[in-house]
Amino acid sequence: MPLNSYQKALEHLDEARIIELTKKLIAIPSYHGLEVPEKEVSAFLYKYLVDEGFETEHVPVEEERNNVIACYGAGSDKEKTLMLEGHMDTVDVKNMSVDPFSGNIKNGNIYGRGSVDMKGALAAMVGALMAIKKAGIQLDGRAYFAGVVDEERNYRGADYIAKNGPITRYAIVGEPTELEIHNGHRGLIWIEIKVHGKYAHGGTPEKGINAIEKINSVITEIVTKLKPEIMKRKHPVTGPSHLNLGHIKGGTQPSTVAGECVLQMDRRWLPDESQEGAVEEIENILANLKKKDPEFDATVTVMDDDMDIQFPPLVCEEQSPLVNILKEASSVVLNRSKTSYFPAWTDGSILSRDGGIETAVLGPGHLSSAHSEEEFCPVQEIIDASKIYIYSILKICS
Ligand SMILES: [Zn+2]
Repeated sequence: MPLNSYQKALEHLDEARIIELTKKLIAIPSYHGLEVPEKEVSAFLYKYLVDEGFETEHVPVEEERNNVIACYGAGSDKEKTLMLEGHMDTVDVKNMSVDPFSGNIKNGNIYGRGSVDMKGALAAMVGALMAIKKAGIQLDGRAYFAGVVDEERNYRGADYIAKNGPITRYAIVGEPTELEIHNGHRGLIWIEIKVHGKYAHGGTPEKGINAIEKINSVITEIVTKLKPEIMKRKHPVTGPSHLNLGHIKGGTQPSTVAGECVLQMDRRWLPDESQEGAVEEIENILANLKKKDPEFDATVTVMDDDMDIQFPPLVCEEQSPLVNILKEASSVVLNRSKTSYFPAWTDGSILSRDGGIETAVLGPGHLSSAHSEEEFCPVQEIIDASKIYIYSILKICS
């Protein structure tokens, strides 16, 4: 790629419009809690891209839930195709302490639900395509923008692309990495343990079986044995295996023997582990406790279990062409490049596993701000993300 085509595209990078677009996207609610979360934002983005002259499709994934797919370039070389992918849905706004839809800018940060997760990235992606188009640069391949539905729940938007296309050679998912290259992440599963006891009056505890007392031994086994064991398991690309005890609920009131206690956990698993294996480890703990204590009775289930929906890990090797291109792009734009793993889950694993698309994660802002009460994204990172996307498009699709 001649560096001057990158310089030419930068001359047409309209920073003000990218921030204005971020603001507009934030202003359109697309949170889970609405009847159809992405309906309005998807219609808006579709029209925006059509008005900008892109070949754009509004693809129904489910009734009224449309992915927005735009394309620039008309080349047929599959090797020279890149998709910039981001989800249009956000989490709920209930916990927010700032106006979720204001898009106010303060101290260089833009605020609102979706600013960092991930409407800033969507705007950066659209801005990158607009700059290349306005500069009149012809591509030998194709660059796609994919705004997808349902990432915050069951990734139906990404699943649709993996099954129906567009299938590109490479994809960049714009989840917030502070512009670091995150070339992998762990799989995710939610597990629920239910301890069954026997309700009785608190004055006659011998007539009951206290499920809260019984779950104590489950927690001890998990925290003192399983968790340290799990955390020793490492993978060069996805980071270490992990578990988190996230929610517990048991009993009814102080003077009743607790007849039931439920513990929910999140388990981050590695490519050389499996979802089934993660469940089995918990089942083994429960079976051993049962052997020692005949009164102990517990079951384990996968939460929201649906055989079609698993949250697998993402692995894009450090030596892969995409990671090398992103390193080069980061060096040019930021004068630095760092690879790491993404701490959360992304659509990227579906694009990679089911679509066979080499995928990495790179986007503006910090993950800790996502879903938070004061969600924000640094404005400069949105612009820099756009530059990295431009460089990557030109490198891959020229
Ligand atoms: Zn996200």
